[in-house]
Amino acid sequence: TYTHVTDSEGNTILEKDTKQVRVVSEQTATILNKMLQTVVTQGTGAAANLSAIGMPAGGKTGSSTGTKLVNGVLTPVDNNNLWFVGYTPYYITGVWMGYDDNSEIYYSVYPTPKLWKNIMLPLHEGLEPKQFEENEHVIEMTYCKDSGEIAVAGCTNTAVGWYKDTVVPSNCTLHGSTQSSRYDDEDEEEDDPFDWGSFFGRDDEEEE
Ligand SMILES: [Zn+2]
Repeated sequence: TYTHVTDSEGNTILEKDTKQVRVVSEQTATILNKMLQTVVTQGTGAAANLSAIGMPAGGKTGSSTGTKLVNGVLTPVDNNNLWFVGYTPYYITGVWMGYDDNSEIYYSVYPTPKLWKNIMLPLHEGLEPKQFEENEHVIEMTYCKDSGEIAVAGCTNTAVGWYKDTVVPSNCTLHGSTQSSRYDDEDEEEDDPFDWGSFFGRDDEEEE
């Protein structure tokens, strides 16, 4: 939905009455926010990183496959749409790229995060860096990528995950359930990136 639309001179051309309704819990929103920030810090959207101005950001790349008429024949095309939708504590911005004839977009570096960054940097000029609000009942823990359970000393394939403190998985049963779980401290996050592929159980279709 939208609240209002302005033209290039700031005049309101569309306005809508909206009523806000919470549809996910604060904890779920905090966890999703954490995961979307990893896209920018270490994932497919790294070119959208705003660390140069100290601003945290999250977002997600997107692409599609489609069809195009080539000499009257409907032919499959890859990457006929590219997106990046990203946000900071101040603004959310969506970027779309595509041709009007549905042609494939060829690129060497995935372009939409960089385009997004070029819009967001001037937009944040003069704004104080600030952190996202986080719900206090979300905890960060290292999990075992083989079992999906909380990592123990014997787990070697691990990543950082975030959990509601009321629904923490049990300790890894593949690598020794008798040991206590490894409670993560914050600086472990960097050498243990969150694994989107394992999280969704499939490979992401986007390119770096
Ligand atoms: Zn394990």
